[in-house]
Amino acid sequence: MMTLFRRAVLPLGLAAALSVLPSAAMAGQRSYAATHGAAPFVTEHLIPGSDLDLAQVDLTLPTARVVALTIDDGPDANDPHILDILRAHGAKATFFYIGAKIPEHHGIAKLVATSGNEVGSHTETHPMTTDLKPDLREWNLAQAEKALASVGVKATWFRPPYGDVDDALAALARHHGMATVQWTADSQDWKDTGPEIIRHRIVERLAPGAVVLMHSTKAATVAALPAILEEGERRGLRFVTMSEWESAMRQSVTPELALLHPAPRRH
Ligand SMILES: [Zn+2]
Repeated sequence: MMTLFRRAVLPLGLAAALSVLPSAAMAGQRSYAATHGAAPFVTEHLIPGSDLDLAQVDLTLPTARVVALTIDDGPDANDPHILDILRAHGAKATFFYIGAKIPEHHGIAKLVATSGNEVGSHTETHPMTTDLKPDLREWNLAQAEKALASVGVKATWFRPPYGDVDDALAALARHHGMATVQWTADSQDWKDTGPEIIRHRIVERLAPGAVVLMHSTKAATVAALPAILEEGERRGLRFVTMSEWESAMRQSVTPELALLHPAPRRH
């Protein structure tokens, strides 16, 4: 399964950086969504280290009828087309960019950054980040921060490549001003499947509070996007950025659920 996961590696000639196998403990963590296609709506999984307790969110409330569309691995030549599709549907997304790809797609990155959509960090070189020593982890986040700054972005969200994160990495991301976010619905579009399979995988997991994972690097993903947005509209779901999603989740915390699920005391 790790082999499959590694096929999502980006065309940066950095395969060597990914050659160290993960520990068994981390393998379980990073493989969850890839194995099952869907992952639990719980804080520890979805936004590790956040003070927002998702158990206190009432997903039946109208304010919770939002889906965060997240599109990883750009900037990419497909992005302007994706922007057009989003605009046509009144939808928004969060693009998680790889710092090292920004210089070659500078114009596109700037276009997305000023489009009303959100741009987050997906590291500089897309490594299996927890395999890196602390100074290289820091370098990878800091370099991406510089690359994003070159297109006017100060990211507040971090998407770890492969969903590979541990407490120290989430804390480092926070130090850089970013919350870490995984996903609840995995399109598995990196497996080179067709648009109809991608659409089906997402649509069966479209629900209030969902965080959908897609990749801008795949033509099939772009082809699947209109039908996904239309199905969301039919169900009364709004597609929003990560920051709008978080705000909607916080608005949907109810006193009753907060009493049932008191936040753990933090040290
Ligand atoms: Zn990625």
